[in-house]
Amino acid sequence: ESGFNPLSLPPLSKEERRVGANSFPRYSGATLFSELPISKKTKDALRQSKFIEMTDIQRASLPHALCGRDILGAAKTGSGKTLAFVIPVLEKLYKERWGHEDGVGCIIISPTRELAGQLFDVLKLVGKYHGFSSGLLIGGRKDVKSEKERVNELNILVCTPGRLLQHMDETPYFDCSQLQVLVLDEADRILDVGFKKELNAIISQLPKRRQTFLFSATQTKSVQDLARLSLKDPEYISVHEES
Ligand code: ADP
Ligand code: MG
Repeated sequence: ESGFNPLSLPPLSKEERRVGANSFPRYSGATLFSELPISKKTKDALRQSKFIEMTDIQRASLPHALCGRDILGAAKTGSGKTLAFVIPVLEKLYKERWGHEDGVGCIIISPTRELAGQLFDVLKLVGKYHGFSSGLLIGGRKDVKSEKERVNELNILVCTPGRLLQHMDETPYFDCSQLQVLVLDEADRILDVGFKKELNAIISQLPKRRQTFLFSATQTKSVQDLARLSLKDPEYISVHEES
């Protein structure tokens, strides 16, 4: 309606209807973070951290992610995939007016403790003006018992597959029934380290009505299989180097 191209676009959320359906084509050519339809809280944090211009994968995927679509994104290591999902995660929960009492709204899965830790730092940095509670759930020294008492109070979980599944299996009343967004980061590496079974078990326990982002450096057969299992009508975004 009204000059809006309906080609493969998903239904608009309440917020998107308020902003106006035409806003999508307008910002799809954006090159700066400041041109995106995102909250002042996120924009201020990005600017302070000197994130001004988007990288190619961010430019290609953020407009789709911000209007509610699932994303299957492929771009080499170092291309800026983290912000391509951290920003839409924050914006989704912000639009939904997510608060502490709403519980787990987003789960981000990362292959290793180290990568999960780095990702958590980026989330903290860009999300610092939002009031969301977040937790890093990884194996190792940390006491799983005290973690179990806290998980339901966290809005954003950053985890390795093993630790997340441990909570799903063992933590009484662990509740992700209101989950809004699932992120599978470095999906090729998650599968490389042998977490395929854990991933399948996790995904089968999550609510189907959600937004999902799957990012990977490479598009292998097993990444495609995982995409089929976890994504709904995704936007395929692949950024290659100029040769
Ligand atoms: P990937 O996950 O694709 O390997 P990262 O998200 O870890 O890449 O980003 C790689 C590096 O690029 C990080 O140091 C990050 O701070 C930086 N970076 C990401 N996006 C931008 C941007 N838009 N402008 C400047 N630096 C960026
Ligand atoms: Mg990464």
